[in-house]
Amino acid sequence: MNSLSQRLPILDSSSQSLEEWCVAHDQPAYRAGQVRRWIFGKRVGDFAGMHDLPAKLRADLLDKYRLFTARVSAHQIASDRTEKLLLKLADGHFVECVLMREPKRRTVCVSTQVGCAMGCVFCASGLMGVKRDLSTSEILEQILRVDRLMPREERITNLVVMGIGEPLANLKALLPALDTLNEKGGLGLGARRITISTVGLPDQMRTLARHGKAFNLAVSLHAPNDELRNELVPINKSTGIENILAAADEYFECTGRRVTYEYVLLSGLNDQDTHARQLGAILKHRNAHVNLIPMNGVSELAFCEPSAPRTRQFVEILQESGVATTVRKRKGADIDAACGQLRLKRERSLVQLG
Ligand code: SAH
Repeated sequence: MNSLSQRLPILDSSSQSLEEWCVAHDQPAYRAGQVRRWIFGKRVGDFAGMHDLPAKLRADLLDKYRLFTARVSAHQIASDRTEKLLLKLADGHFVECVLMREPKRRTVCVSTQVGCAMGCVFCASGLMGVKRDLSTSEILEQILRVDRLMPREERITNLVVMGIGEPLANLKALLPALDTLNEKGGLGLGARRITISTVGLPDQMRTLARHGKAFNLAVSLHAPNDELRNELVPINKSTGIENILAAADEYFECTGRRVTYEYVLLSGLNDQDTHARQLGAILKHRNAHVNLIPMNGVSELAFCEPSAPRTRQFVEILQESGVATTVRKRKGADIDAACGQLRLKRERSLVQLG
């Protein structure tokens, strides 16, 4: 019998490799589909619970694989029924994932890295840099754990890759995870129900465009000119807005999906009329949509959100320039809502404990 640490996360296996493994263990290939349906459809917690599999196969699975590798370290529920899980990974690092409920939607938000290397000045996730990429199984485990928070009749309808980390810096793990979710035997989540948010890495945006699936792409712009964006989003010094917009245009041409531009309004910094006008000017001839995000307070950062009239004025200017604009609803405000805050607290207290 293999020891626990020698067993492989089954969520790292593609359906094809699981089929091959079944055949190598004297089973028909369709058993792989049955295993997947137990994991994704019936929310089984271990191999022993997969009743319709032969006992020998269950024993072989148990010897070779593990279903989950992390454990739930904290579970918070906000007054609007937003729920957040803090997962402790096998190597002791933490990541967060969130369940957001709307009348007809159940959206899960996942992380793709432990920390983040992008260094956006208003974001909690980058405060301690990046430790490592998550694996495919660690990304999928977040989704399955969130799915299991809901009663049987409720299912995940949408996925946003907007948690901790820069998704496009970890495409090698993210794309297989999204492909698995897409499959019939997975959660059956169509590409149109999946949104990937990026700081704007042009080469990787082009790779994603060529992947052949029409995921929604959201670009975190946050400033309408390079001078200001270099300050707020330091990675911009090596990309520049023009390159990002060109890659986003290509994304639209390849996939037919309208690109969303995210813009966190920071009082006194990027929320003035001139910024709105500049933003309108660079986006109005594109097939674009602007999503203004209210700043989530991060305890060690001094940024704050503008007044309601200022926000309204910003929206009006953008709309007058012909750019579709929405303001994102705040969710889970009473549970360390800014992504990365809970993890930060936990990793910091570990550092302090030595
Ligand atoms: N690295 C990806 C995913 C980050 S999180 C990206 O840059 O898009 C998703 C969105 O939340 C990004 O637009 C990010 O800039 C924004 N964000 C980060 N910190 C925030 C805060 N404190 N308040 C509001 N939005 C924030």
